[in-house]
Amino acid sequence: MPIYEFACGNCGATFEKLCRLSDAAAPACPKCGSSETTKKFSECVARSGGSGAKGGESSGPPPGSKFT
Ligand SMILES: [Zn+2]
Repeated sequence: MPIYEFACGNCGATFEKLCRLSDAAAPACPKCGSSETTKKFSECVARSGGSGAKGGESSGPPPGSKFT
């Protein structure tokens, strides 16, 4: 499950919360209790345990590229 970062529009606090895809409602700010929180999609981090989701790390130019 992805962890989204939220920013409070009232006090400016940022907090993280586990969210389901179907969870459309923004959570209330844990600091001031305001519901004017916005989801920061850009800060979406996939901390799903890190069970080898990285594969095929190809560094360098692909074979066949004639750059000389
Ligand atoms: Zn707040």
